[in-house]
Amino acid sequence: MTVDLLAIAAHRDDAELTCAGTLLKARAQGYRTGILDLTAGESGTRGSASLRAEEAARAAEILGLTERRNAALPDAYLQNTDDTRRVVVEEIRHFRPRTVILPFPVGRHPDHRIASELGRDACFLSGLARYNAAGEPWRPHKILYALAYREDPIKPTFVVDISEQFAAKLAAIRCYGSQFDGAKAAGEIFPTGQDLYSLVEVQNAHYGSLIRTRYGEPFHTPETVEVSDVLALSVQSM
Ligand SMILES: [Zn+2]
Repeated sequence: MTVDLLAIAAHRDDAELTCAGTLLKARAQGYRTGILDLTAGESGTRGSASLRAEEAARAAEILGLTERRNAALPDAYLQNTDDTRRVVVEEIRHFRPRTVILPFPVGRHPDHRIASELGRDACFLSGLARYNAAGEPWRPHKILYALAYREDPIKPTFVVDISEQFAAKLAAIRCYGSQFDGAKAAGEIFPTGQDLYSLVEVQNAHYGSLIRTRYGEPFHTPETVEVSDVLALSVQSM
């Protein structure tokens, strides 16, 4: 099943934390969406790979994904090699997305950093006709780096207003009870003493405030964003 928008993430629950609102919004706009989880979560401190598979399936339903797949690469040992690039290339050729959301290139968890690099390399290699992998060549048009929860000195290139999607995003995150119930931190989110669900709300509200909306998800692209009508620009300056 091909999709328009594909999120590639290291672990089940990563895409929910960083870009579930954007996936939900794209779905509501009539696009087909998918998630490729690179690992099954077998090295996680909490839960088990099979429990996380059930949780991920429930979250996928809430997100209205066309398809969610798992590349079954080794959790906590993710590497960007010829072998893993071939696996991800074949997944990209399966999904044939126009736009791909990747983790930000810097991360607390080494898998997040590697997933970013591996995902980007695979997006390029997937377009090479003679690359040694199964499937028809396909190169995505656009890569978006999910910037949520990162503290790098970098402004979002843009923020997606997810005010209408935030409740469903939180419901999708809550599917991962094995990971998050009672948790004070996760992935790129540092602990403050609040429970994780409150932390997600606070952070998403902050990103929303950058575009004067209730909730938002921030993204970075190295490329410049084109504007065709400066009079249509939103976000009040003063
Ligand atoms: Zn993760």
